[in-house]
Amino acid sequence: MKRIPEPFRIKMVENIRMTNRAERETALETAGYNPFLLSSDMVYIDLLTDSGTGAMSNQQWAGMMMGDEAYAGSRNYYNLVDKVKELIGYEYTIPTHQGRGAEQILFPTLIARKKLKGGAKNPVFISNFHFDTTMAHVELNGAKAINVVTNKAFDTGHYYDWKGNFDIEVLNKTIKENGADNVVAIITTVTCNSTGGQPVSLANMKAVYEIAKQHDIPVVIDSARFCENAWFIKQREKGYADKSIKEIVKEMYQYGDMLTMSAKKDPMVNIGGLCCFRDDEELFNETRIRCIPLEGFVTYGGLAGRDMEALAIGLEEGMDEDFLSYRINQVTYLGEQLKQAGIPIQYPIGGHAVFVDAKLFLPHIPSDQFPAHALNNELYLEAGIRSVEIGSLLLGRDPLTGQQKESPMELLRLAIPRRVYTNDHMDYIVDAFIALKQRVADIKGLTFTYEPPILRHFMAKLKPITEK
Ligand SMILES: *Cc1c(COP(=O)(O)O)cnc(C)c1O
Repeated sequence: MKRIPEPFRIKMVENIRMTNRAERETALETAGYNPFLLSSDMVYIDLLTDSGTGAMSNQQWAGMMMGDEAYAGSRNYYNLVDKVKELIGYEYTIPTHQGRGAEQILFPTLIARKKLKGGAKNPVFISNFHFDTTMAHVELNGAKAINVVTNKAFDTGHYYDWKGNFDIEVLNKTIKENGADNVVAIITTVTCNSTGGQPVSLANMKAVYEIAKQHDIPVVIDSARFCENAWFIKQREKGYADKSIKEIVKEMYQYGDMLTMSAKKDPMVNIGGLCCFRDDEELFNETRIRCIPLEGFVTYGGLAGRDMEALAIGLEEGMDEDFLSYRINQVTYLGEQLKQAGIPIQYPIGGHAVFVDAKLFLPHIPSDQFPAHALNNELYLEAGIRSVEIGSLLLGRDPLTGQQKESPMELLRLAIPRRVYTNDHMDYIVDAFIALKQRVADIKGLTFTYEPPILRHFMAKLKPITEK
């Protein structure tokens, strides 16, 4: 396939060190066979996440020097507000420390408002797919999180352009079953992280918005990867090939009333988030009040002035078409090479990551021995590459029965940080998988030596199962 070279040159480098196999074996054993617990110095290529791991540009670093660290009314805050108005078309902006900061101030405000109108007796949020912190904030506020993504998303081998789309029929049915009065909000996640960085079409966003309006339900756009979503629309959606990313982004945001954003993804800052409103000044003010005790005063929301400046610049850089073409091409390049080497992956390849289907790659390991996690460990031992399991280890146990739940997919996510690794690094990753493929039958499942009661994947300790 055609490779698009990096549309930047490198002004500063951070050295990374290749370890040897014996060092990695010791490190992984010490980490309880959980790569989350590795020191990053022991990792050669880190594909754990694309969140906060991007390289800022010279412009962003220059912006850092322009920080106005006033507690209230920092000039960088006003720059950020202006950029959001210009690029997204939303009037009101609250900065937050990251995406979950926006969730924690917005969701209780939305529930309170719905209650004032006499609804939300049994509050629910409906999304194509709630990101894990998003679901956590829904549940922490006593509401239920329902996902209604198209079931085409779960067939990794089947090509479909819009594996992030809502299933409109199921959406309608879910609203009816729960009663529109109970639906606090619909959350449109672009791109849909949980199904593999898969895009949502504009037609689908529009249909969702129209349904929401019929029932007087607000729509929140969960915006971590809005630029990548716009790029897919430009490539795939009829009538958009000649539109600019900026035009597409503006149109996307017409099909929402407000947004939460993890700015650690597409806007390429190491920390930051946003909560913005199209025109609802009242809701903006109510949410702002919650910002003060939780995130910080309303003109900084947990960020330094310099962070807000880097974010304002990053919002625009993330939308640059040359950058996006290169960015998504790099992820596609990695995925296509893996596919050619016979490694099963989620297809088509998403925007920010390649998802390896460990259920297919390691069919001899049952789900309760965590095949994707076993693959993660082997990849680390083989080549010093760290990634992350998205499967049954992450999913956890049924809170009522204590039974291990079986995830519909056992995926290993190779998330690619922005502007950090070169295409040579991608080739190196592919070579590692080719080596692993030679000895799949030797890869063993895992069992717990320590299992934390909640969010266990972060802190769990495990060991390989050596005998049958
Ligand atoms: C990362 C992410 C979040 C949470 O943002 P943080 O900055 O990690 O708090 C929410 N939604 C989606 C879709 C994300 O990818």
